[in-house]
Amino acid sequence: MSDIATFQQVQKRYARGVLALQDVSLGVPKGEFNFLTGPSGAGKTTFLRLLFGEERPTGGELVVLGHDMRRLRSRKLPGLRRRIGVIFQNFRLLSGRTVEENLDVALRVRGLDREQRRQRVAAILRIVELTHRSGAYPEELSGGEQQRVAIARAISGDPELLLADEPTGNLDPELSLKIMNLLRQIAARGTTVLVATHDYAMVRRIQARVIHIEKGRVVVK
Ligand code: ADP
Repeated sequence: MSDIATFQQVQKRYARGVLALQDVSLGVPKGEFNFLTGPSGAGKTTFLRLLFGEERPTGGELVVLGHDMRRLRSRKLPGLRRRIGVIFQNFRLLSGRTVEENLDVALRVRGLDREQRRQRVAAILRIVELTHRSGAYPEELSGGEQQRVAIARAISGDPELLLADEPTGNLDPELSLKIMNLLRQIAARGTTVLVATHDYAMVRRIQARVIHIEKGRVVVK
């Protein structure tokens, strides 16, 4: 099976009755860069939260990395999440800790020893081109640099799937393009990347598969 995730007539109805997604059927192929587009309120965040197991489908079938998300036991969730990296718009870096320390914290939960963590941090900082900022504190970094640290942290565990929710929401167009290109490079290394955005100008500049959602439904354009 070459899909990282498979949706079959997936529905998500929130407790207060909002039908956030309906009749979503598609496969997310392995190792590709995908955009998830649609106006605000369309269901993009919900789509990502279902993949990360933060919300469960209320109808249909969703399989993520081989797990049936409607039946997955809560105790299995941490194991699945270790295989998925997430980047949110309001990235939360630990403020009193340097870039290097922020990444080290993320790796500790994976049981790597000190030397393994040091090597891994150095390798990730090279990927996001932030080696020269390893000793800086988050508040000393520009918006673009902070976002690159958030990406570094999300890929630190070498995830199979990387989810990004409006990762360039606060950045200017030039910086946004740089961040997108970095995410494409990460996809080219074999990680499946899914980027939710309503920045259509950006989407037009980048050759990638587009999953477009409107009012909770996937619209084929
Ligand atoms: P997008 O990311 O495209 O802006 P969302 O997935 O955040 O869209 O929201 C889709 C719809 O679901 C919206 O109508 C939103 O108000 C609703 N929604 C999102 N989260 C919740 C929630 N926790 N409880 C109830 N309704 C929600």
